[in-house]
Amino acid sequence: MTIKTRFAPSPTGHLHVGNIRTALHNWMFAKKQGGAFVLRLDDTDKERSKEEYVTAIRADLAWLGIHPDSEERQSSRFDRYEERFEELRKSGRVYPAYETAQELDLKRKVQLGRGKPPTYDRGALDLTDSEIADFEAEGRKAHWRFKLDHEQAIEWTDLIRGDQHFDPALLSDPVIRREDGSWLYMLPSTIDDMDMNITHVVRGEDHVANTAVQIQMFQAFGAATPEFAHEALLVGTEGKLSKRLGSLGVGGFRERHIEPQSIVALLARIGTSDPVEPIADVMTLVESFDFNRFGRAPARFDDEELAQLNQKIVHLLDYDDVRQVLPEAMTAEAWAVVRPNLHDMSEVDRWWQVVTGPIGTAQLEDEDREFVAQACAILEALPWSETIWKEWTSALKQSTGRKGRSLFMPLRLALTGLDHGPDMGALLPLMGRDSALNRLKNDFS
Ligand code: GLU
Repeated sequence: MTIKTRFAPSPTGHLHVGNIRTALHNWMFAKKQGGAFVLRLDDTDKERSKEEYVTAIRADLAWLGIHPDSEERQSSRFDRYEERFEELRKSGRVYPAYETAQELDLKRKVQLGRGKPPTYDRGALDLTDSEIADFEAEGRKAHWRFKLDHEQAIEWTDLIRGDQHFDPALLSDPVIRREDGSWLYMLPSTIDDMDMNITHVVRGEDHVANTAVQIQMFQAFGAATPEFAHEALLVGTEGKLSKRLGSLGVGGFRERHIEPQSIVALLARIGTSDPVEPIADVMTLVESFDFNRFGRAPARFDDEELAQLNQKIVHLLDYDDVRQVLPEAMTAEAWAVVRPNLHDMSEVDRWWQVVTGPIGTAQLEDEDREFVAQACAILEALPWSETIWKEWTSALKQSTGRKGRSLFMPLRLALTGLDHGPDMGALLPLMGRDSALNRLKNDFS
């Protein structure tokens, strides 16, 4: 059996960190099992679904390195839903109901007032043909409910939550189709999962009750049910589902110069018993992916943890990983020199400018200015090489008696305009002789 997962966003907005995590886990699981991953666009809501969001979802996934093996759209499958709905209608597993929203609301209030759960009372099942004809004659349109089988206990072993049990008699028969004929989420999703041979449904635990209903839908069609994994939700550091997380997406990460590898490394591991580690190679993360490691407690998303992880990941990125975003002339050697100093990739340009100039002029003490002049003369006399820094500073040590900070800091200041930065031994050959001498001279002049 080929493993197949799907990520099913509704294109009614941008992906946020919570959906990105779900997409990632679906993709990782499929990858690990040598299976396939489908992007399914749940765009049955014609009003709210927007093409710009479809484009953005594709682009965000691509940026994260999540490449679907195929793409499906619910909006192109309405005929199929109609066909399968008709089967359920014939077998009596869906039924028309005519209550208005206010009537349903009133029923719920009465039930709650009597201390009962507000489960739908199946009033519509008692309607006679002539009552239905009257409603239709009045111009009332039916909405449709799926009839749960109260005799059939709902059970599954969730890959994260373990054994699950629901008594269908305690659930409302869900509305699956509105008065205007449009579809609610529940039935099309089940039909798609069957038609697309989805073997594993991985989604947030807010869908657990939907799963209970959908299992009976699979059974109503005589289909096998897929495996389910419901992951604990994502919360912010304050321990709550925050509004901010709900709007934090790829755009926000890019603004903060977070690399896709960092988000992937974080979201692959939070909420699991594996530690969050700076792993830039996604296949290493894929190898360690296992639903058994997922906990039931909410996964905590911490911006600070992400920023720190990002810095460590940047320090692991190879020249080929970043080449496209580096300044044109920056070589692999230069990347290796600059890389350990970066907090994030936005700082590359600044350090590259330290190599290529112009640099800011540093304020030197008078005695240091003299020392720099002396250093300049010595440098000019030495043959230039890759190890020039070492040779130059040992010559200076001998002739001036300076050592440690008093030897190195004035040179760093004069050559870079800064009191900190990449290893001078590596930086100096990158600057080159002419540029180094100019800087030493300009500072002194
Ligand atoms: N469109 C649904 C959602 O975004 C999909 C849920 C599912 O994975 O079945 O919640």
